[in-house]
Amino acid sequence: MLSYQHAYHAGNFADVHKHLTLFAVIDHLLRKKSSVTYMDTHAGRGLYPLAAEETSRLQEYREGVARLWQARERLGDEPLLGDWLSALGRVQSRGSGLDQYPGSPWWLSDRLRPQDRLMLFELHPGEHGHLARQALPDNVERIHGDGLQGLVKRLPVPTPRLCVLVDPSYERKAEYVEVAEAVLQAMRKARHAVMLVWYPLLPAGRHLELLEGLREGGLRKIWRSELRQREPGGGERGMFGSGMLVINPPWGLDERLGTAMERILPMWGETSRHRGDWWVGE
Ligand code: SAM
Repeated sequence: MLSYQHAYHAGNFADVHKHLTLFAVIDHLLRKKSSVTYMDTHAGRGLYPLAAEETSRLQEYREGVARLWQARERLGDEPLLGDWLSALGRVQSRGSGLDQYPGSPWWLSDRLRPQDRLMLFELHPGEHGHLARQALPDNVERIHGDGLQGLVKRLPVPTPRLCVLVDPSYERKAEYVEVAEAVLQAMRKARHAVMLVWYPLLPAGRHLELLEGLREGGLRKIWRSELRQREPGGGERGMFGSGMLVINPPWGLDERLGTAMERILPMWGETSRHRGDWWVGE
């Protein structure tokens, strides 16, 4: 049963980490003219009005994107953050206020060129319904179905390049292993793909099943970016950090993202840390 709805968490610190990494990867891909297929295996709704009942219930965006938005003039001189915040500004409906947070389908489709294509998978009927109502370019395909199965089934793709975002809700413990298996299968069919996999840092540490599964499966060139808001322990429950794996990362991504993250860490307090390193090298 699917009960997770991303609208309750839209714009939180993990979304900022995830979408900033995705934005930086897309930047690198756009440096060449050759076409790219993008796949988003767990798309969600696409766009989140911050005043919606679900999003205003927990208001997680206040500790996430809202902090960057308030500091946008000061952060604008950092190239990646400046570009990301300008893009965020384009989706707002009123002058200088922050009233919308865009999900991955928006971040991916916003800079889609005519030669590129985008596939958005969403399994939840309600979430898919929201996504189906979004105005998106013609070269975007919305698929109501399982994203991990869809990813493997749709490979190889006809374009020379492929970029995949895997962003599950990990509602079921088995998902960590299922994601590792699907990523390994997909990478066997598309060895050149740039693949981004998000995972939560939770006290139970189940993300290690995903990470170990990829390493044991023989995958190389896995770069890891982890943003920790606090250290685990002290009996505190809940997500204490956000992780991103980038398989076949574009050259220079680590430095670019690392510099941007160092600028925004102070907004999350003294206990915030970012680490970028190779989980598995070449
Ligand atoms: N990627 C989105 C973003 O960045 O805006 C957020 C996605 S949210 C974390 C996870 C989504 O995956 C939920 O909307 C959920 O309904 C959907 N989902 C869960 N299991 C799925 C599956 N097997 N295939 C496709 N979508 C799934």
